[in-house]
This record gives sequence, C-alpha cells and structure tokens, in this order.
Amino acid sequence: MRLQTNCKDCNKKISFYTWKTDRIEFSMEKGKTIELICKSCGLKEKYHLNNLKAIPSKISLIVGLGIFLIGTPLIIYLTWNLIFESLNIYLISSLIGIIGILKYSPSLDNFTSKIS
Ligand SMILES: [Zn+2]
Repeated sequence: MRLQTNCKDCNKKISFYTWKTDRIEFSMEKGKTIELICKSCGLKEKYHLNNLKAIPSKISLIVGLGIFLIGTPLIIYLTWNLIFESLNIYLISSLIGIIGILKYSPSLDNFTSKIS
C-alpha cells in the first residue's frame, strides 16, 4: 500500500510505498512512528502512524483488474472445456452403446436388410 502524510514544515505531500497491507502489520515491524524525509524541504521528522493516510496503490488496482479480466474468461474457458469434455465422453459412450445395440440386435439387422 501507499502511505501519505503532509510535511510538518512545508506541508507538502510525502508519500512512500510499503509491502505491508495494513497499519497493524506495518506498526508491528516498523513501530508506531516512522522517520520520513521531505523531498521538498529535506526535513527529517518522525511521523505517527495515525497521521499517515493509506492510499490504494494504482499498481495493485491494475494488477487486480488484470487478474480479473484475464482470470474470469480463463476460468469460463476452462470450465466450458471441462463441460464439453464430459459431454463428449457422455455422447461418445452413448453413441457406442447405440451402435452396439444396432449391430447386435438381430431384429434391427433383419429390418435394415429388408429395406436394402
Ligand atoms: Zn517539507
């Protein structure tokens, strides 16, 4: 996630990225305060976690959207394939069954030979 705060001196935005997904996880590793250096005025100051605002990162949003856009059709495609495959097995086995019945049924054999 992206964390953002305002510089205590010049009030410019200071933002930074962390791999931690929430404040609790972040504070467990880094503590309740974090030292940040302002890019505009160079002030090094400690900021409390409560003063940091979590901003949903665009990258994770894009990645999430990408997974959704690619994953959903893929899942549908895979399930459809599976449905068709099982349908084919069912069709083939029933066709084999019908052919078997036709082949080994003497009455039907007589019936077809009478026609031809
Ligand atoms: Zn500053």
